[in-house]
Amino acid sequence: MESLLAGYRRFRRTVYPGQCDTYRSLAADGQSPRAMVIGCCDSRVDPAAIFDAGPGELFVLRNVANLVPPFATDAGHHGTSAAIEFAVGALGVAHILIMGHASCGGIRALMSGVGRAGNGGSHIERWMSIAVPALEKTLQAGYAAGTDACAAALEQAAIGHSLDNLKGFPSVRDAAAAGRLQVHGAWFDIETGALHLRDATDGSYHPVAVPEP
Ligand SMILES: [Zn+2]
Repeated sequence: MESLLAGYRRFRRTVYPGQCDTYRSLAADGQSPRAMVIGCCDSRVDPAAIFDAGPGELFVLRNVANLVPPFATDAGHHGTSAAIEFAVGALGVAHILIMGHASCGGIRALMSGVGRAGNGGSHIERWMSIAVPALEKTLQAGYAAGTDACAAALEQAAIGHSLDNLKGFPSVRDAAAAGRLQVHGAWFDIETGALHLRDATDGSYHPVAVPEP
């Protein structure tokens, strides 16, 4: 806790003074972020840091392995679905980016069998079962479970699967059909800092060019 408070004090002394006008206008006028990012809880992949975004710029949802569940109307507590509904329906974001990453612990767990018990297991078990179709697809493509190559392919396949689920939300479908919303996938390589964008046509991933200044 002490390190959290020390960080807060640094923020108040060195960061906040330069942003206080932004915070005041956001408090007065409300937020109107143009993009929603769905990322992983992993401490190494902070969307605000990766996209160099300030207060009010990104509507961020982070969950284990950056998954989007299928649209459902049951009585469960659907936190991720509620955030998507709010971002699209109330905020009117123009973009939703699902950002996966290398060395994802949730995806590693999925690869080792977590998720296959489905509704019978822990919260993690139930949550990771969302991505079991991506695991099956990755294994069918010839990747050997347990290898680094399989993990990376699964991280990327799970983003595609979550994008498919995202498009199953009526609000997302309607906004996209009306030309008000675009959905995207990306994968962040922690070691190199490279962001790879997903090609919507064939599901391949390509690093974003970073020209020298
Ligand atoms: Zn992760």
